[in-house]
Amino acid sequence: MKRALFACLALLAALMLAVTAVAEPVKGTGTANSEIGGPITVEVEVDGSDILSVNVTEQNETVGIGSVAIEQLPQAMVESDSILVDGVATATVTSDALKAAVRSALEDAGLDPAAYEVEVTAAEAGERTPVTLDVDVVIVGAGGAGLTAAAQAKELGANVLVLEKMPMVGGNSLKATGGMNAADTQYQAALGITDSGVQEFIEDTMNGGHNINDLSLVTTMAENSSDAIDWLTSIGAPLPKVAATGGTTHKYLHEPEDGSAVGSYLVEKLNARVEELGVTVMLNTTATSIITADGAAVGVMAQDAEHDYTINAKAVVLATGGFGANFEMMASYNPALANAVTTNSAGATGDGIVMGVEIGADTVDMDQIQLHPTVYQETGLLVSESVRSMGGILVNTDGKRFCNDMSTRDAVSSAELEQDTSSAYIIFDSRITADLKSTQKYINSGITVQGDTYEELAANMGLTGEAADNFVETMNTWNQAVANGEDTEFGRNNGMDDDLSTAPFYAIHIAPGIHHTMGGLKIDTETHVINTAGEVIPGLFAAGETTGGVHGGNRIGGNAVCDFVVFGRIAGQQAASYAAAQ
Ligand code: ADP
Repeated sequence: MKRALFACLALLAALMLAVTAVAEPVKGTGTANSEIGGPITVEVEVDGSDILSVNVTEQNETVGIGSVAIEQLPQAMVESDSILVDGVATATVTSDALKAAVRSALEDAGLDPAAYEVEVTAAEAGERTPVTLDVDVVIVGAGGAGLTAAAQAKELGANVLVLEKMPMVGGNSLKATGGMNAADTQYQAALGITDSGVQEFIEDTMNGGHNINDLSLVTTMAENSSDAIDWLTSIGAPLPKVAATGGTTHKYLHEPEDGSAVGSYLVEKLNARVEELGVTVMLNTTATSIITADGAAVGVMAQDAEHDYTINAKAVVLATGGFGANFEMMASYNPALANAVTTNSAGATGDGIVMGVEIGADTVDMDQIQLHPTVYQETGLLVSESVRSMGGILVNTDGKRFCNDMSTRDAVSSAELEQDTSSAYIIFDSRITADLKSTQKYINSGITVQGDTYEELAANMGLTGEAADNFVETMNTWNQAVANGEDTEFGRNNGMDDDLSTAPFYAIHIAPGIHHTMGGLKIDTETHVINTAGEVIPGLFAAGETTGGVHGGNRIGGNAVCDFVVFGRIAGQQAASYAAAQ
């Protein structure tokens, strides 16, 4: 009895101790600066080692890129009780700033942030769970083509599943800034534009592509472009503004009314449509191979962090984009590009092409890769062509100019690749920064080096000895060429109105950036993937940058969007009707 009473008292004492030891949840607020959108402010609530909530109260990150980190990381921190969750691969600046804001909020709450930096381990290999799913149509990739195909196939009654390997939808399509080329549209008619029809569109696309494009695909794209514009209008994504397409005088570039970039505008609207239709999009899920039976595609194998999926489908649509972020693949077609940087989204690794080829698909124009000559090495940021047209020049690491810096993208890019480092510096001065807004963005984001004299700029660019002397001489020679109105060295004859003599002076390390891969899977006008014997692979369809033939040797601006809307729709329609017939 005595012993029982003692045990009871001990238990009571332990309980009281435990009660007094339980701390109240605490709250804190913290802010950190992101180079992209400025301050990110968060409120955290923590109970002991539990992170109860992380709320972002202030942020201005890029919609569709940084905003993905803003949406996903707080939840991941709460689930793992750790700050050390995986950042979003395409939004590292935002991810890092968000984590810094959370650290500061924890300090504000009187806590040690280090206590919440617990390594988050992925599921062990042995813990992977096999899952089998059955659908009518599986679509691999949720960029422009995949989302369009998904909406279209679902509208026709198919049961559709979309797989996307990145934590966000949009792919390269999200980065498209121009518009969508289309001919004989309601918007052209409303503006009285009559000289930019289907025939002109076909001719411009063929000429722009050095006439190696597949004429039947180009004709299909042009003839269906007006209907594609109407369909976009019907889903709440009108493109009513019409402008001339770069490189031609014809007006078929269709843009959003409010001047927003076409890529983020369309991806947002297409994604909303896909959600409205109730299509499931599995993010962070990578398709790894195509399942076949009797030579037909009947599904895909896929994985996420914890599951191995067998997805049985009556039809498979490959919409995995290009291979502009797969350097090994790039170098196998063009070894000179092994050291090139890319403007492409991290998901553009050519997976659809590889998976298709594995089951016998043919490819076309794989070595046709479009480069942009002024891309910042570390992040793939495009440095605007306006910097050169306003008087900027290019120099190599010997401190010398090496080409007519105002030549075509192809020519300037090849000249850069011939330099020792396969890269160059773009040089501009304070006269240009005063007039060109984008240069302020470069300076604020820390990608420029600067100097009050040419000598100081050379030193900050890392040029020493002879290279530094060359650089000073180059600048003086260039200023003299501008004064004379003649570039005797390289024959540049435009963008020479003003010299580069207004300090401080700036440089950005740039290199040709891979911009678009024109080649890809061979398809017919109904988006069937064609095998190396020239036959249709039953059940397999492809659309968008993963296919080849539409753009030939050079894509004209505005055609990537037209390609993904027109052929995304055809792939959705074809896959839905093929599935219905199985
Ligand atoms: P397109 O313009 O042809 O639609 P995008 O680059 O916009 O091309 O979109 C392709 C999408 O496919 C990207 O979001 C990319 O992350 C996704 N993707 C690429 N490979 C795979 C894969 N193996 N599994 C799932 N999604 C993939």
